[in-house]
Amino acid sequence: MAQVHVPLLILGSGPAGYTAAIYAARASLSPVLVTGMQQGGQLTQTSEIENYPGFEKITGYELVEKMRLQAESFGTKIIVDTVVSSDLSKRPMEITMETGDVYTCNALIIATGASARWLSLPNEDNLIGCGISACATCDGFFYRDKKVAVVGGGNAAAEEALYLANLAAEVILIHRRDKLRAEKIMQERLFSNPKIKIIWNSVVERYVGDKEKEGLTDIVLKDTTTGVQSQVAVDGVFLAIGHTPNTAPFEGQLEMDEFDFIVTQPGTPLTSVDGVFAAGDVQERVCKQAVTAAASGCRAALEAEKYLGQLTPG
Ligand code: FAD
Ligand code: NAP
Repeated sequence: MAQVHVPLLILGSGPAGYTAAIYAARASLSPVLVTGMQQGGQLTQTSEIENYPGFEKITGYELVEKMRLQAESFGTKIIVDTVVSSDLSKRPMEITMETGDVYTCNALIIATGASARWLSLPNEDNLIGCGISACATCDGFFYRDKKVAVVGGGNAAAEEALYLANLAAEVILIHRRDKLRAEKIMQERLFSNPKIKIIWNSVVERYVGDKEKEGLTDIVLKDTTTGVQSQVAVDGVFLAIGHTPNTAPFEGQLEMDEFDFIVTQPGTPLTSVDGVFAAGDVQERVCKQAVTAAASGCRAALEAEKYLGQLTPG
């Protein structure tokens, strides 16, 4: 078990963390970045990325790998470990890793992302990227003129369904109750869109499809009131049942909202604790995209540089 002090610690190896590292390393802050369990972040879960400027088509893995190499080329030190707890009231702040190593730091950038919730049904992991997605903005394009389903009844599900209705031939929204949680205005847009059909009181019971062949082909639905099952042919399913921010190690240490996203001052990476900055999906409730995560990583590094500059006399 080691105890290490670094001026700037960055947590997370997605686009937000790597972008923060690139900016911080180029500013000679000698950043140390902790990857977490999912090296490369959520982008490694998808196949092709077509909406990251500068790359017409690139796999998610390749894109974050390029970010990692760029961050390392400027001198970022990368540690493969996961944060389990933190004490952000101490100076320097104290971050404890799964391995037992303890890092102390003067400034901290939290870019630990958020994880889309999945249904955890058999075959789901296999079919993610082959018919199952959690991001219409990312993957909707692959379903032009096809039939897709969206699962969920909140604002995100409504947005996904409306977005997909512009691309797909037909959209079915599957909700487990008979009332949507989405705002009224979103509901009105859903109800008035001729391409969207709502299936009430239903849950996905099973996926049908084979990753090695045609991918997802059907879903089996169960009516939550009668228990009756039915099979529906679809080309894709978009899950919109919420995101869980990866903030457990910081619980009680800084302000979070009712969904456990880190609260930042609007348009900034500033958190409720001096010297702690948050970037990317861990503080983003609405627009969860690689490019916005990267942009907020940049802002976090610039603010951390300013903060560390104020701490150093002269
Ligand atoms: P993440 O990418 O989530 O990275 C978080 C990082 O934090 C990970 O490295 C993780 O290991 C680390 N971490 C978590 N907990 C800890 C801990 N306790 N200690 C240390 N590290 C920790 N966006 C697009 O723009 N285009 C797309 O085509 C696209 N496709 C997508 C497809 C899928 C299937 C999914 C799920 C998302 C997609 N997105 C896409 C969204 C995009 O991936 C995210 O918005 C983006 O990755 C967020 O970046 P981030 O750096 O904030 O967090
Ligand atoms: P959410 O509001 O929590 O809605 C999640 C939906 O998924 C709910 O309808 C829920 O059903 C359903 N659900 C959850 N678990 C499920 C499961 N296992 N099986 C089937 N259905 C399940 O999440 P969200 O839509 O991602 O939104 C999160 C926050 O971001 C909200 O505050 C939302 O307003 C905000 N947001 C805002 C906008 C916008 O303003 N344009 C866009 C997106 C998100 P129940 O209703 O039965 O619980």
